[in-house]
Amino acid sequence: ALTATLLVLGWVVVLRRRIRESEERFKHMALHDALTGLATRLLLQDRMQIAMENARRRQTGLALLMVDLDKFKDVNDTYGHPAGDEVLRVTAARMVAAVRKSDTVARLGGDEFVILIADLSDLQAAERIASNIVNILAAPVPFEGRELPVSVSIGVCAALAGDPIADALLKNADAALYRAKEHGRGCYETYNPEELIRF
Ligand code: GH3
Ligand code: MG
Repeated sequence: ALTATLLVLGWVVVLRRRIRESEERFKHMALHDALTGLATRLLLQDRMQIAMENARRRQTGLALLMVDLDKFKDVNDTYGHPAGDEVLRVTAARMVAAVRKSDTVARLGGDEFVILIADLSDLQAAERIASNIVNILAAPVPFEGRELPVSVSIGVCAALAGDPIADALLKNADAALYRAKEHGRGCYETYNPEELIRF
């Protein structure tokens, strides 16, 4: 009877550990993109909330950079889907290397990324970072002996603590990105509150 009890208890311990491990795996999958390892939209939203709280408390700012690959469909069509995947992975790694550890780089899906710059000192800093990222991401990506051409467009929305547009950062960065695409791609545009409906 004692042996049987010990065996059952042992099993319970093993099963509980397995359940915990699979819960952690699922949590990781919900928060991290499988292809690039970047944050998902879910994790980004959480980080944005924390960044806004911090900005409010410290009276600083924050910025969102909406980054979208230019004519990425052509890369897939010309070089194949695995080449496209490599471009996404390399682009992700370059962005992570270009920002601070306290910033968040997320993949929203497809060829669309977001960089959350926390603790922004002044609005111009966001544009300097965007300009830098446009340049870094213009370097061709090596793949199977070829050099794949890449370029990105960026929509910037920066806000200081207490600024009402802070709550609409994603939407505004997206509007700015749209203009960057219209202005010929391979560049950044900054959100201008005058152009959009106020809410
Ligand atoms: P634009 O400059 O206007 O952004 O042009 P685009 O071709 O990048 O336009 P769009 O955003 O419509 O195309 C995105 C393409 O990204 C479409 C799809 O084939 C490709 N794509 C989306 N997800 C993945 C992925 O996980 N891997 C690969 N290789 N391609 C993907
Ligand atoms: Mg695109």
